[in-house]
Amino acid sequence: MSTPREPVATGVGLSAWRAPQFVAPAADSLVDGETCDLAIVGGGFLGLSTALHAARRGLSVRVIEARALGEGASGLNGGQVIPGLKFDPEWLVAHYGEKAGEALVSFVSSTADTVFDLIRSERLDVPHRRAGWIFAAHTAKALAAAADRHRQWSSRGADAELLDAAAIGTLTGASGYRGGWLDRRAGVVQPLALTFGLARVAQAAGARIATGTQVTRLSRREGHWRVDTASGATVKAARVLVATNAYSDGLIPGLAQSLVWLNSFQIATPPLPDGLGAGVLPGGQAVSDSRRILIYYRRGPDGRLIVGGRGGMPTPKRPADWAHLERAMARLFPALAGFPIERRWFGRVAMTADHLPHIHTPEEGLVAVAGCQGRGVGLMTALGPRMAAYFAEGDREALPFPPSPIRPIPFHRFRRVGVAATLAWYRLLDRLER
Ligand SMILES: Cc1cc2nc3c(=O)[nH]c(=O)nc-3n(C[C@H](O)[C@H](O)[C@H](O)COP(=O)(O)OP(=O)(O)OC[C@H]3O[C@@H](n4cnc5c(N)ncnc54)[C@H](O)[C@@H]3O)c2cc1C
Repeated sequence: MSTPREPVATGVGLSAWRAPQFVAPAADSLVDGETCDLAIVGGGFLGLSTALHAARRGLSVRVIEARALGEGASGLNGGQVIPGLKFDPEWLVAHYGEKAGEALVSFVSSTADTVFDLIRSERLDVPHRRAGWIFAAHTAKALAAAADRHRQWSSRGADAELLDAAAIGTLTGASGYRGGWLDRRAGVVQPLALTFGLARVAQAAGARIATGTQVTRLSRREGHWRVDTASGATVKAARVLVATNAYSDGLIPGLAQSLVWLNSFQIATPPLPDGLGAGVLPGGQAVSDSRRILIYYRRGPDGRLIVGGRGGMPTPKRPADWAHLERAMARLFPALAGFPIERRWFGRVAMTADHLPHIHTPEEGLVAVAGCQGRGVGLMTALGPRMAAYFAEGDREALPFPPSPIRPIPFHRFRRVGVAATLAWYRLLDRLER
């Protein structure tokens, strides 16, 4: 399988999550000729969570990460731990069929539980708060969609509440919403700390993690996989998990072409002073709003306001490239107009043509997972134990998504131009609807 493209620039180092107390665990250097039961390419939530649980099941595990830990999406995201997928339960059951659909709904309903249980049971040093997530509707149509989603999840036992304009105004402190719903299963974490914490417990369980080592080739040889790396070291593995998601390259033919990655941008204020901060998300919920160009926000553990949203397609270079988020912040919280922005960063999210995450098993002993549509903190962490069960026991039932063929998107090369045009169009519609 072929050689990957150039590594990409990320917003690393600038994120609000970087702080001296959060330090990556030391990597385990890779020795040429190593053997293992399971080689994992990519050290984000999926790779590390799978490593932890596979090592606990007795597999010898080697994680190989191209960058430093936390430099993929897992260390850069908004830290909103939201159960579910972008599709509603009834749609998922209709799409996957009664049995597989209900099993999937039950799995995605539990993804936030997995994250918060893991933090507690492993005593991870991860700032977190489980106060819920709000979907905030800015139009009557979005409010009707929120009510329907609330109905579907509540009927399945989710602790959720429908919010009217007054209630959402009190909870968010933001102006302009007609209502929404609050999902109390959700919460927020410090994602870089979670990445480092997962790596630490995976190592303690026996997994070895190499960083700064790009996997350049995967080839099947006489019943095992040979993993070539840019450092020249090779690994012999019985099975391989490609956990590269939005940063997927050419390791598996067609995988990168089955995804469109978008840049998600974030800004963070300094910790808000008491007076100003008292009215901004006083209960500590996370919020995503209903605009076509998604805006999401939360308070950080130190009281910052962190606002994220889709950014332009080119790599951002100047503070002005994040200006749309500053405008969104001022629109939502007029008292914060002109308030300083201390950090600006970005990372990649992977979208698929059908807006669903996918598990692929293109060859024996080779699995790839990709396409979490910007909602992978809970999902990818919770997939870890399932993937481990699959690798350790061959338990196909453990896979919540039925494996699907890799389907490269037609005219993929031009897809990004189309996405850029769509983003511009959506931005205009959002402005008109205000
Ligand atoms: C700015 C931003 C905000 C987000 N906000 C949220 C949020 O609030 N809530 C939420 O649920 N989700 C959010 N997401 C999405 C979430 O972060 C991802 O879905 C999740 O982190 C994906 O985890 P992963 O392990 O699959 O991939 P990643 O964490 O991206 O890990 C993949 C790793 O593979 C490595 N890699 C790639 N190619 C190779 C190779 N050839 N050799 C070795 N290593 C390789 C990369 O370096 C990378 O570290 C956000 C994403 C971004 C970028």
